[in-house]
Amino acid sequence: MAGPTPLTAVETFLQDYPNIKYIPPSSAEFAATREVWNRSRRDIPLAIVQPQSPKDVAALIKFLNSSAISFTLRSGGHNLEGHALVQNALLIDLRALKSVTIAADRNSATVGGGILQGDLVNKLGHESLATPTGTVPSVGYIGWACYGGYGPFSSHWGLGVDQIIGATVVNPSGELVKADEALLEGIRGAGGVFGVIIDLTIKVFPLTSILAGPIIFDSSDIVRSFTEFNSAYNNLEDTEDIPPQLSLQRITFNSPRGLTFAALFAWSGVDFEEGKRWSEKIASLGPTKMNMVAPTTIPEWIAGAGAHVPKNVYGSAWTHNVSCITTDVAETIGRNLARLPADPGAMFSLHQLRGPSAAPQTQASVFGARERHFMVEILGYAVLPEKQAESEAWAVQMATEVEKAASGSLLSTSYVSVFCSARADSATAWVEKVYGNKSEVLRGLKTIFDPKNVFKFTVPSLE
Ligand SMILES: Cc1cc2nc3c(=O)[nH]c(=O)nc-3n(C[C@H](O)[C@H](O)[C@H](O)COP(=O)(O)OP(=O)(O)OC[C@H]3O[C@@H](n4cnc5c(N)ncnc54)[C@H](O)[C@@H]3O)c2cc1C
Repeated sequence: MAGPTPLTAVETFLQDYPNIKYIPPSSAEFAATREVWNRSRRDIPLAIVQPQSPKDVAALIKFLNSSAISFTLRSGGHNLEGHALVQNALLIDLRALKSVTIAADRNSATVGGGILQGDLVNKLGHESLATPTGTVPSVGYIGWACYGGYGPFSSHWGLGVDQIIGATVVNPSGELVKADEALLEGIRGAGGVFGVIIDLTIKVFPLTSILAGPIIFDSSDIVRSFTEFNSAYNNLEDTEDIPPQLSLQRITFNSPRGLTFAALFAWSGVDFEEGKRWSEKIASLGPTKMNMVAPTTIPEWIAGAGAHVPKNVYGSAWTHNVSCITTDVAETIGRNLARLPADPGAMFSLHQLRGPSAAPQTQASVFGARERHFMVEILGYAVLPEKQAESEAWAVQMATEVEKAASGSLLSTSYVSVFCSARADSATAWVEKVYGNKSEVLRGLKTIFDPKNVFKFTVPSLE
């Protein structure tokens, strides 16, 4: 007689755990709960489970490991390739784990493994506290922070990985453990590859409001706008000390009004007069159309910024890390922005890592690019599936041209969250590309903490 199928084995196990919400493929909720940001990921999971407590997660992992049933983990579902979905693997949706506990000294908070960035900034905001995050509220905080975590506070307080000072993990045997220093080194950069992160303890900072908003430049001649802004910004960096409290993310997208080049300005210092002076200085670096920088709160700021990002897309991304944007590179970027597809899913963004985050850190991590650089994001996505091919072709051409133009300033590593696995010849080559000289440390930690590769479908894939 044939034994139980993986699905019936899961169903039998769940009879003893009625608190774990079960969403089988036949459920009306299945399609919506399965949805991830990148709709081109078509894999259908075996079923979806939503544990409600750390003990639920521990029991699940113990059962899945002993039954050799494959599984994946998700929180925000914003992995750019949709890696939370693997055909016939059980999807463990961690979004119910969203607690936030602020330490008595108000210097740290312990946050649940499934919390979204928007919920985290709202909860901290109510307490006049803040921590670095990105700008899209629906992105999972753990997925953002553990793999790097670039955002509007990076140059001031550090990357996401730099905030992590503790973690509770469900290990491959299904035990709830406090991460030691070795495991924390791996979590800072390689997140879920060793176990389920039940919570992270992170640094938080007193902050009630920020000065933030887009500075929109005239984009009728985008090559000129981008190159002029770039050379003026390079000159500013050469001649003045740009305060770490200031961050700028250059973006380009197609709005209903057409092609738009903007710098997302954020000032997290207490001196707003100084911040205002800097916003005017940045606005003067190009042909400004509108300077919308104003006092706001982080929850308001990221709700507004996130509203411009499509909820779902089709396609893939390219990325390069470059130490500086030379005139040649800026011209190449500008030329390619001029042919940005009209679909709102096609976007370009430039994050800069500078200030304290670019310096060697006291906390060990396997994050690959700890040096001053720009992380170039070429987002070949489309909201409409029929536009996917056009967006991806645009991204391929732009990425190829930028790589050529930036050959003298290209870093050897790329950002794990954006570097698409299909761009490497093998999984080994992909790991080398994103972790660089930290690859061996990462593999060594994997051998210690998950030697049988139980977490084979979590990011990053080390196979
Ligand atoms: C619209 C958008 C905006 C973005 N903005 C930025 C940005 O400003 N800065 C930046 O650095 N990155 C940014 N990213 C990249 C993003 O931070 C990463 O893709 C991140 O990993 C997404 O996390 P998630 O939880 O939403 O994704 P998911 O797809 O749910 O998770 C990705 C993987 O993380 C692992 N994981 C998640 N939670 C856990 C957990 N609790 N325990 C163990 N493993 C876990 C799993 O392996 C999972 O497959 C953005 C992505 C998108 C799509």
